[in-house]
Amino acid sequence: MNVLSSNVGYPRIGENREWKAFLESYWRGELDQETFLSKMDELHLQHVKKQKDAGIDLVPIGDFTFYDHVLDTAFMFGLVPKRFHSSHEQQTLDTYFQMARGSKDAVACEMTKWFNTNYHYIVPELNDVIPTLVENRPLRLYKQVQNHLQIDGKPVLLGPISFVKLSKGYEYRDFNSIVKQFVPLYAQILSELEAAGVQWVQLDEPVLVTDITEDEIALFHDVYEEFHQSAPNLNLLLQTYFERVEHYQSVVSLPVQAIGLDFVNDQGENLKAIQKYGFPPEKILAAGVIDGRNIWRMDLEQTVNLLDELTSHISNENLIVQPSCSLLHVPVTVKSETFMNDSLKEALSFADEKLQELVLLTKGIQFGKEVIKKEISKNKKILKLFNESSARQNTNVSQEMAYIESISVERKAPFRERQNVQQQTFQLPLFPTTTIGSFPQTSDVRLQRAKWRKGEISQEDYSQFIKNKINDWIKIQEEIGLDVFVHGEFERTDMVEFFGEKLGGFEVTKAGWVQSYGSRCVKPPIIYGDVYFQTPMTVKETTYAQSLTNKPVKGMLTGPITILNWSFVRHDLPRHSVANQIALALQKEVKTLEQNGIRMIQVDEPALREGLPLKKEDWESYLNAAVYAFKIATTSVENDTQIHTHMCYSNFEDIIEAIQNLDADVISIESSRSHGELITSFEQCTYENEIGLGVYDIHSPRVPKINEMTQSIERAVHVLPKELIWVNPDCGLKTRGIDETIEALKVMVKAAKKMRSRFVVHNEQ
Ligand code: GLN
Ligand code: ZN
Repeated sequence: MNVLSSNVGYPRIGENREWKAFLESYWRGELDQETFLSKMDELHLQHVKKQKDAGIDLVPIGDFTFYDHVLDTAFMFGLVPKRFHSSHEQQTLDTYFQMARGSKDAVACEMTKWFNTNYHYIVPELNDVIPTLVENRPLRLYKQVQNHLQIDGKPVLLGPISFVKLSKGYEYRDFNSIVKQFVPLYAQILSELEAAGVQWVQLDEPVLVTDITEDEIALFHDVYEEFHQSAPNLNLLLQTYFERVEHYQSVVSLPVQAIGLDFVNDQGENLKAIQKYGFPPEKILAAGVIDGRNIWRMDLEQTVNLLDELTSHISNENLIVQPSCSLLHVPVTVKSETFMNDSLKEALSFADEKLQELVLLTKGIQFGKEVIKKEISKNKKILKLFNESSARQNTNVSQEMAYIESISVERKAPFRERQNVQQQTFQLPLFPTTTIGSFPQTSDVRLQRAKWRKGEISQEDYSQFIKNKINDWIKIQEEIGLDVFVHGEFERTDMVEFFGEKLGGFEVTKAGWVQSYGSRCVKPPIIYGDVYFQTPMTVKETTYAQSLTNKPVKGMLTGPITILNWSFVRHDLPRHSVANQIALALQKEVKTLEQNGIRMIQVDEPALREGLPLKKEDWESYLNAAVYAFKIATTSVENDTQIHTHMCYSNFEDIIEAIQNLDADVISIESSRSHGELITSFEQCTYENEIGLGVYDIHSPRVPKINEMTQSIERAVHVLPKELIWVNPDCGLKTRGIDETIEALKVMVKAAKKMRSRFVVHNEQ
């Protein structure tokens, strides 16, 4: 029997993001439904064919989507929340999009992060809906591919236990019974697939790598036993990814034909488990050996050796070679990077290149290392050249890092002392008002930037344009009456890409797009070398803004952990070392700002929380490293320089200790949650530095009433000393319109004043 190659999932977006274009044209009403559907079908088939032509044996079917695969699963089971029901119509394609994007009458379903990735899925709502099988979607797609391309694909489904785990709208005590509602539906899908002659089905159960309980594992056994009974001749591949599996022995004994394990992001533990406990001889191991989360060309020899090691425990014919997870998380092809320098380009591997690597590896395992000898030596040469390049072996950086790591990274004085000095310096009123950094990036900003990038306007004209914007908004902030100003971030496209373009060791790709949610794609910069500070990055705009006003203007930087988490990171160094290099470069920016008279500096860390490892036992070391990097960046300043940070999530209780340890003078944080929850979160944990709990939600164009904002400040006053409280929106205002922004901020300033006056009156009584 042959060693099979398999793919776990393929990017949906197309080489030129055509997928995004089709979707958005359809949404705008420029494509009629029929044309839209046929274009999408064409793209789907093209992706399947591409994978087959590359030589992949098991090509995934059904991972392609019009929005998100979790939403597809919910929709397939008729889980359409009541607010999207129209009285006489069937659920249509438009219902599907309304669930994802909202309609004028119904708010969209919640969206949240897919495990520890930057992909977001639509959270299914299970409240009071009994699932039914509306359509056997995998079967339809399987047949479609078979008819058009004569290819027998491998249908992919999100497994029931992960699906229910990722859903909301039920009490955990009902978990088992809810999963069981889905079991007959899955069983029907599987038996119909079996009847249609399908050979392989991949059932994704990524929850198997999270902290799941013995009881949940027992549920897995029940559920998968039923699947096995319903489709005894179908090869079920139970797929895990993103980490080492919990309860290895139980997992590999599940009644399925094959188990997919991640051998890249498992910290070596999946291999160790196989070495220690063996692997059931009657089962097939789908070995995820090519990194589906990163963009580096694999070390061919090392990967062959890993597979060799695996085949000392598993016979060759029981091996499938595959990526560690869906290739959804990497861009489509390196071919589009026409301007990149060759040594970097050669070291990269996006989805299409990974397929080639996969096929090559499979050949090497099937016929022996000898047959891929030439490729191994070529691969070695490429990687050697790249690894030894001065970009990756920067002695200045390593010397400075060694020094930093040997000294303490504490502020010169503890917070209480700094707070006194800062109060004298800034003389801010009670409940000082400020914003998070960005102001509306209206179409004129995007247009001028595009022109400048194309060379249609000069650097000088572009800089002048930015200056004018800053000027306008300093005036606006004066009018509004804010206490602490920002310059508005008009020169930035994206808070990470902006720094990626300016720091050494980074490359920004031309077309390295990855789906973030729905049609929205991001283009993470690549950290390929040692990171270093080249020239001041934010000083010009910040000092210009400061020159226009007597109010303090906050310098605005993206923090080391957020830059790390939103980039593709080199993998020859530990992540925390890369974070420290970024932090050191940012420290230089912070110092330069300080030397240029900027006395408040905000270092944003919105991605700190989402970088948390999937397993709780790994949290501490991640958080310690994150705190350390943040402190390298921020602690070198004088006591009367005020360090701010910003994070936009409200569930911070479980990491509050780390947030406290950042020792920022001021943090602004989202707090869109209900009264009760906010109070309990502060009853349970203490936060001692200054804090702004976002007083309004910037994700909506609605201008809140003054009472809503005063109530929000009051809530904070109940649980925190009033001297610590700042007043600000809950995130940057980049996506908002100008008028609504000004109006909302005026209300915010009024609310702060109202609260202030209340306390002054109080004191005089
Ligand atoms: N300073 C950034 C802004 O205002 C922060 C963005 C964020 O939190 N994601 O846009
Ligand atoms: Zn934010």
